[in-house]
Amino acid sequence: MTATREDMLGELALLPLWQRRASPDAAVEAHAAPPPSVEGAEARPAYIARLEWRDFAADVDACTACGLCWTRHKSVPGVGDRNADWLFVGEAPGAEEDARGEPFVGQAGRLLDNMLAALGMARDRNVYIANVLKCRPPNNRAPEPAEADACRPYLERQIALLQPKLIVALGKSAAALLLGTDATIASLRGRVHRYRGVPLIVTYHPAYLLRSLPDKAKAWEDLLLARRTVAESVGTGAAGTSPAA
Ligand code: URA
Repeated sequence: MTATREDMLGELALLPLWQRRASPDAAVEAHAAPPPSVEGAEARPAYIARLEWRDFAADVDACTACGLCWTRHKSVPGVGDRNADWLFVGEAPGAEEDARGEPFVGQAGRLLDNMLAALGMARDRNVYIANVLKCRPPNNRAPEPAEADACRPYLERQIALLQPKLIVALGKSAAALLLGTDATIASLRGRVHRYRGVPLIVTYHPAYLLRSLPDKAKAWEDLLLARRTVAESVGTGAAGTSPAA
């Protein structure tokens, strides 16, 4: 009798966790098998909560928890200074991020870079940038709640590793996940919230600002509030004057 692939994987104790990627898309690379110590869905958050930076990106890349891995090209774990005071959290990678494996490198990312530059900052200096989802949803649709829940342990681990002085939630998906609310950005912005004790400021997503220029001034006010909040927590003074280009 010929042993099936499932028989062989069963013998190797790689079932039910490891699965061949179903996508016929040759551009999508095969995932490595997850670590053998992970014994099921319940163990996954605890396992991710112990990941170190050196294993983080590879683990994200091997994740099959929500199914977006079948359609994305590159996973987008995050980018920036691992000792940063500032953490920016967006929604999910778009097409350019999916192609390059780096968050906020498209048009919205250029606006974010301009906003950082107006604050005298840059994405690799005292700033870390991550998303709620580490894989692109097809056609840039909004994250499904189940996808956000499946990816949540990665963002939580990034926050625990970074220990930022401030989190900036860019748009509704990030605000909803981190604050557990469905409230609008308009009602959440303009004040300091807390995520597990870390000050958190909500502002408009750069992609929204590209379509709604009048709200750019409000986003700039939010960033100035963010800068004051960081300055207070590190004990230095700072003030800004000009809106981002
Ligand atoms: N929008 C996001 O929310 N994140 C990205 O990385 C790019 C666009």
